[in-house]
Amino acid sequence: MSDLAFQRCIHPHCGTTVDLADTSFHCPKCGGLLDVAYDWNRLPVPTSLKHFEAKWSNRTHPLDFSGVWRFRELFPFAPDEKIMTIGEGQTLCQRADSVAAYCGMKPGTTYLQYEGMNPSGSFKDNGMTAAFTHAQMVGARRAACASTGNTSASLAIYCAASQLMRAVIFIGSGKISYGKLSQALEHGALTVQIAGDFDDALRRVQEVSRQLGIYLVNSINPFRLEGQKSVMLRVLEALRWEVPDWIVVPGGNLGNSSAFGKAFIELTELGLIAKPPRIAVINAAGADTFYQLYERNGVRWNGGQPDDRKIGVYMKYLDDADKRADTLASAIEINRPVNLPKALRALERCGGVVREVTDAEMLDAKAKIGAGGLGCEPASAASVAGLQKLVREGVIDPGERAVCILTAHLLKDPTATVAYHSSDPKTFDDVLGKRGVRRANFANRAVQVPNDLTAIVQAIELYA
Ligand SMILES: *Cc1c(COP(=O)(O)O)cnc(C)c1O
Ligand SMILES: [Zn+2]
Repeated sequence: MSDLAFQRCIHPHCGTTVDLADTSFHCPKCGGLLDVAYDWNRLPVPTSLKHFEAKWSNRTHPLDFSGVWRFRELFPFAPDEKIMTIGEGQTLCQRADSVAAYCGMKPGTTYLQYEGMNPSGSFKDNGMTAAFTHAQMVGARRAACASTGNTSASLAIYCAASQLMRAVIFIGSGKISYGKLSQALEHGALTVQIAGDFDDALRRVQEVSRQLGIYLVNSINPFRLEGQKSVMLRVLEALRWEVPDWIVVPGGNLGNSSAFGKAFIELTELGLIAKPPRIAVINAAGADTFYQLYERNGVRWNGGQPDDRKIGVYMKYLDDADKRADTLASAIEINRPVNLPKALRALERCGGVVREVTDAEMLDAKAKIGAGGLGCEPASAASVAGLQKLVREGVIDPGERAVCILTAHLLKDPTATVAYHSSDPKTFDDVLGKRGVRRANFANRAVQVPNDLTAIVQAIELYA
């Protein structure tokens, strides 16, 4: 299979190819990022996406059951016997009319792709099953990542479930939510807490992995993005293979944006869809490097030669001002997105836009998503807050069809949620007030009653 799938520099003017088994994940010639690439002419490619419906009747086969691997013909880098699946990708794409109304969209237009249903509770499992499979193919014994929490939770689960590898996790100090930290600890990962933030941890894990020969599963790993393509395939599947007008996705390290773009570029080139949807990437206002570069500085993919000078100037400004990412949405609290060039490419091919939303906007959107029956963590709600903003601006038309990605489960990070709904001003202030959130517009406050039957009955009759 080796010459049918390989790695290739993403910059067309370089185009250096690298063996499938290489684990450095950098172009040896120009230092750029790598894609997993395929010789599609020599591979059996389905002629229609309907082809994948045949897998539904074969659900006793673990690879056809997986919401990732049932699409493996569209990322054919691994022999079946090397694939490590734990049944990831059993997700929902739910029509959400109450969220549509909140965003100013027409009924029937707005869908939520709920990735919180994955085994570890976030979309990260889509990518981890693919990276873990590649790690298996190259005989790795240890795998490492730096993480704001969900990548480490996912890696820990794959290592524990397979007993094939030891997980080594780097976290910034004091930044990780208990929901996520508890997963890393419970599932037996070696957890290394660094005195620094996520960007520091990411730099260190790359050095340490190189020195110790540990397999790296951060989103710089191009195999993760292959698995994450399946999120879009499931969206198309849920929409009966109709391409929506918009995909709206939170942006942190920009792995999703990059993977979704790659999926649509390939589907278009393979003739499986007529044209890609547009992609809207939503940053947190406190971690808005991509927004600043794309919308404010006009940085573009530019045929594979983005303006490195402009990017360098901005990064130097972040360094010089010691500007740290700062948002309650810890999963996207990232100022140096590793997949920046790939995301630029995705937005060029998919008519992309980038917006930023405040923590307060995210939390209000999150409460509306929750009131509609799906629970997500703060970062996930950036997608819905972003959709609302883009409708207000007139960029997205209320009649267009939009799919917002909910990247992880509510229970990942309950602290912000409890503070948002709290009737105690101190609880609110300790978590949200000090981050600049003034009001919880959709708080569902607990009702305080004396321990007295009559009073309890009265309260329930009054409020419910
Ligand atoms: C990792 C993560 C993100 C950021 O995704 P990228 O692909 O890095 O942009 C967003 N939301 C949640 C819940 C995450 O875990
Ligand atoms: Zn190169």
